[in-house]
Amino acid sequence: MAARKHGDGVWVNNPSTIDWGPTKGALMAMPTIKPVAATIVVIGTASADPVSNHTSSPTNESSIIASSPANSHDYAYPLASRHTADPNTGGRYFGAVRSNGRLHAGMDLITPSGTSVIAMTDGNVIDYNVGFYAGTDALIVQNNDGSVVVYGEIRSDLRSGAPIVRGQRIGTVISNNSSGSSMLHIEYYTGSASGSVFGGGDYKRRSDLASPMFIQYLE
Ligand SMILES: [Zn+2]
Repeated sequence: MAARKHGDGVWVNNPSTIDWGPTKGALMAMPTIKPVAATIVVIGTASADPVSNHTSSPTNESSIIASSPANSHDYAYPLASRHTADPNTGGRYFGAVRSNGRLHAGMDLITPSGTSVIAMTDGNVIDYNVGFYAGTDALIVQNNDGSVVVYGEIRSDLRSGAPIVRGQRIGTVISNNSSGSSMLHIEYYTGSASGSVFGGGDYKRRSDLASPMFIQYLE
């Protein structure tokens, strides 16, 4: 998969230049599309959005997903307080190139150490990865909608099998022992693959990895 950086596939706030195809009428009538969604980066396929229920052609499907309302998932924002740095810059975005050529599999929401991590939706813990990065751990959650979320660079008391509900406090952001910075590193998987979320390819992750950039706009 080619490297995707912030800015790839982004449409700007000028719908008149977009080829909406045969679904233009329905799309323009949707009241919930917000300009803020214009910065969402979605990789590739229709399956990138598990809750999508559109019936248009594959070409139009990509456009529709890229312009989905920021909170079309009805997820909760995953921190008890807002992030303090723009996740679209500074190598914090999905697809940012790391020193070893690996691509950043998640998005980093910078926040003080000790900030509570909040479950975005209902699900179950399927793994707890000790030593995920520089002394921090990761909680891996299978959501009831089929998607999987990695809440990384945190500490949690929850372990595999634990049920969680939307809005529940599921862990705490801690400082890593590399740079000393603290953030929620969050990864999103559509659920179209199974098994460990870790894998090969440019991201060193499972094949159903998708952009988590929409998460920054959740409320
Ligand atoms: Zn990260």
